[in-house]
Amino acid sequence: MSTAEALDESEALTTLHRVFGYEAFRGEQEAVIEHVVAGGDAVVLMPTGGGKSLCYQIPALVRPGTGVVVSPLIALMQDQVDALRALGVRAGFINSTQDFDERRTMEAAFLAGELDLLYLAPERLRLEGTLDLLSRGKISVFAIDEAHCVSQWGHDFRPDYLALSLLGERWPDVPRLALTATATHATHQEITQRLGMPTARHFVASFDRPNIQYRIVPKADPKKQLLSFLSDEHAGDAGIVYCLSRNSVEKTAEFLSRNGIEAVPYHAGLDAGTRAAHQSRFLREEGLVVVATIAFGMGIDKPDVRFVAHLDLPKSVEGYYQETGRAGRDGLPSTAWMAYGLNDVIQQRKLIQGGEGDEAFRRRAAAHLDAMLGLCETAQCRRGQLLAYFGQDPQSGGCGNCDTCLVPPDTWDGTIAAQKVLSTVWRLERERRQKFGAVQIIDILLGRRTAKVIQFDHDQLSVFGIGEELTEGEWRGVVRQILAQGLLAVEGEYGTLVLTEASGTVLRREREVPLRKDPPKPTASRSSAGS
Ligand code: ADP
Ligand code: ZN
Repeated sequence: MSTAEALDESEALTTLHRVFGYEAFRGEQEAVIEHVVAGGDAVVLMPTGGGKSLCYQIPALVRPGTGVVVSPLIALMQDQVDALRALGVRAGFINSTQDFDERRTMEAAFLAGELDLLYLAPERLRLEGTLDLLSRGKISVFAIDEAHCVSQWGHDFRPDYLALSLLGERWPDVPRLALTATATHATHQEITQRLGMPTARHFVASFDRPNIQYRIVPKADPKKQLLSFLSDEHAGDAGIVYCLSRNSVEKTAEFLSRNGIEAVPYHAGLDAGTRAAHQSRFLREEGLVVVATIAFGMGIDKPDVRFVAHLDLPKSVEGYYQETGRAGRDGLPSTAWMAYGLNDVIQQRKLIQGGEGDEAFRRRAAAHLDAMLGLCETAQCRRGQLLAYFGQDPQSGGCGNCDTCLVPPDTWDGTIAAQKVLSTVWRLERERRQKFGAVQIIDILLGRRTAKVIQFDHDQLSVFGIGEELTEGEWRGVVRQILAQGLLAVEGEYGTLVLTEASGTVLRREREVPLRKDPPKPTASRSSAGS
């Protein structure tokens, strides 16, 4: 680089090089940072892993004062702050995990102007003490992370977020930045409105990764299927194979090695030295395959990963997107390949049921799983589904670079079935002002007089028993698939089904609803498939 260019370099870019050690900005980062450094408000929608943090960290470093980051993820604050401190950034947090002295120290550092970044939980900002503290220091920027929490209709609504509009009133001269990874157009509107950011500029990064080919195959003999996928299409390529358990990671790595593919395992059960060695081989060598649990991949920036294969179902579409997103960062053709079977569904359901967390947590996990299943079962463009999941408009007519576009699966016309589901939800919502989950909707369709059906007089609904032509399992498939198509939504901690804007197009017969036939058959015993 010539001296002239170096002098021309913006302070933001210098900070990117000097503090973070990265070469260039990604996607919308530069535009966002320039806008905020200049004092503008911004709403940023970027996929997870897209690099949202730098969008506020760099303005916080470039502008005078402390950047205040509002984040609901208290559990992550310590890690975030540690990572920043390791880079020499003066970062701290104030939250309920601290004792009085720790909090006092942090407050003093803020007032003395010794902090570049201060992380706060949203509930802190309801305390007059906190607001008073903030008004006695100098603030460079407010970053509101996970901004979709302000949406009362979303899964993650946090009442404390509603109070954040006050930041703009009290600090009209401090730029504000609202960031989120998942937002429909409606949520975006709500963010702008409820946070009181009418003049904010919107930066919407595309979630599309056009060079990644998405494929999901029915699982039969997964290791053999993987082997032929690798030898047919990716011989000598670097890639990642994700498995759920440490045991299957070990076995799969061994199996591939025995069959002439250079593969190493990576999971949290291996000692740190082995893990580091395998990771650095992966980064250094050209054609190594890492078989790993999801512990592998965070912060790994290898541009020429040619494939990501899943032998087990990810827990959510977000996870799938993030993991497959590690392929093809260099923009060259890459494959996201997954083998999926009914046993995956059962396994994941069991994990949710037997797992930690309260009822609300489990329901949310189930809703995430259902969306992932919808992606597996779709008869439509996989990329389109992914984009729609993140609230982005898919390309009409399909992408031409996923399995369902390349080899369209058999489908049946599910329009009437979808209408039956949607009218049942509609009757409950509009006539009864009630919301119910899938079980109740299906019981109504099947005309079952269960205790709960009787209790709510649902046998009196005109839709009671109109769905006897399908089995319960088939109805679940219909519900799952229309959920995945965005024709129906899941809401709240009880996982109730609610209509979406798109539901109307089906109810008014403005569109057809093709559904995929023959869900992937289980490979092992059918008897265990009771879910
Ligand atoms: P998000 O908050 O959007 O999920 P992060 O801010 O955590 O994403 O960034 C994801 C990863 O990408 C991190 O490991 C981060 O260091 C890296 N990253 C972000 N921006 C860049 C960049 N311009 N160059 C290289 N790596 C980057
Ligand atoms: Zn497609």
